[in-house]
Amino acid sequence: AIWNLGSINADFVYTVPHIPAPGETLSSTDRQMFLGGKGANMSVAAARAGARVNHIGAVGADGKWAVERLLEYGVDTRNIAEIETETAQAIIMVDPQGENAIILHPAANAQIPQATLQTAMAEAQTGDWLVIQNETNLQRTAASLGKKMGLRVAYAAAPFDAERVMAVQPHLDFLILNAVEAAQLEQATGQAPADMDVRDVIVTLGADGADWYGTGGKQHFDAIAVDPVDTTGAGDTFTGYVLAGLDRGMPMEQAIGQATKAGALMVMRHGTADVIPDLSEVQAFHL
Ligand code: ADP
Repeated sequence: AIWNLGSINADFVYTVPHIPAPGETLSSTDRQMFLGGKGANMSVAAARAGARVNHIGAVGADGKWAVERLLEYGVDTRNIAEIETETAQAIIMVDPQGENAIILHPAANAQIPQATLQTAMAEAQTGDWLVIQNETNLQRTAASLGKKMGLRVAYAAAPFDAERVMAVQPHLDFLILNAVEAAQLEQATGQAPADMDVRDVIVTLGADGADWYGTGGKQHFDAIAVDPVDTTGAGDTFTGYVLAGLDRGMPMEQAIGQATKAGALMVMRHGTADVIPDLSEVQAFHL
């Protein structure tokens, strides 16, 4: 099983004629609300890929719909606490060129109760996966607890924070970064992904695919050539699919293979958690 300590956001996407300048007031022409947050996206992706996924997180009373939607997508939501604050929000402005500007209000994501993590971890089994990223509190506690309990610990270093990467590194079995984050890591610490003391490191390269640094050295995987319309959520979907594959006992090559297909399907559609393909779609996808 997979235990994912992760963010849950209400994504409000506003269509605007341009990104507003300081002091400017602008009317939007459309507004849509989606389930989002890297954590929620990864949980949905892994569940759609067939894994047993337990999400560990928090929402406010205004987040019941998000919990229900995660449940609909096959995620176990028993360890999502409802706490006395708001559900996290992302205010996303998108202009006609597709350029965006985003305000993130972390709220509940930054206040996940320690007791919620403890209750979840009490149920975890040796060999299960614990997944963390940087949009919540408690990652360091979770990583060291997970390692101590014999879980395999996976970390998506996004949004990037060099100090946090170095703090959790000793507990990690799996690290995934995109190309920008890998460059930031090297700049901040002098360490290239290949030098990290983590058994498996994956660097995703967008349309250029992904590199896996494992015990056998570096291996490159090409992306599938498609016409992208919206690349948001590709990385989270890729991560969820890789981990679901590994959790099921697949060799890394095969797990990356299914994740590559899922990532390509994702960039051909608008939206995030609500449009993540399921395993049958991924398996049927050939170009
Ligand atoms: P992130 O969203 O975290 O920046 P990437 O952009 O590197 O992550 O995308 C993750 C994976 O999704 C890639 O490794 C690739 O397999 C797939 N992918 C992303 N962009 C494209 C694209 N334009 N065409 C085909 N596949 C893509």
